[in-house]
Amino acid sequence: VTCGYTGIVSMEKRDIMIRVIPMLDQLRKGLQMYDLPKIMKTQQDLCLPLFVPGEDDGVYSYRSRPVFSEIGSAKHQKEVNIMNFLQDYLQEIEDSGGPSNNSVTPESLTVGRIMQWMTGQRHKPVLPSEKKDFVINMKFHHDCDTQHTVCFPTVSTCSRTVTFPSTHLKTYSEFKNILTLAICHGQTFDRV
Ligand SMILES: [Zn+2]
Repeated sequence: VTCGYTGIVSMEKRDIMIRVIPMLDQLRKGLQMYDLPKIMKTQQDLCLPLFVPGEDDGVYSYRSRPVFSEIGSAKHQKEVNIMNFLQDYLQEIEDSGGPSNNSVTPESLTVGRIMQWMTGQRHKPVLPSEKKDFVINMKFHHDCDTQHTVCFPTVSTCSRTVTFPSTHLKTYSEFKNILTLAICHGQTFDRV
């Protein structure tokens, strides 16, 4: 409260607050060394992203809507694996810190680029109404024959649907190779 916290302090939160307040106090003293509190007062918009993680960053402002097969079936298990691979893949790219420091993936690969590939959207959605609708459908194609060695996920940008060929995505390294290839060769594999 002494730090300017204006929210309601409930009984459950009191313990946490008591521990947090000295930390905030220290933080504030630290910031004063750089005159930041003054700047924070006058330039609130500029300073906000320094303290509050942006909603627009990274993976989580997109929702995926997988179309799963029956729970318990072998297909369903494959589909769940693929969704996990996707999560890991996006996380790995995000963790690699973007274009500058990227040993595992091609330099130009960013989460934003992947989302762009999946959706055909040049920009991230900004308006809350856009965000609400921003769902990527995930489908799975199980009926590949074994005559060929590689298949790419197909993207339908109209319906914002990505279809993953499950037969070719049994392991994370397969998933990573195929997705990286598909995204880097971009438009060639579009199926509208
Ligand atoms: Zn195939």
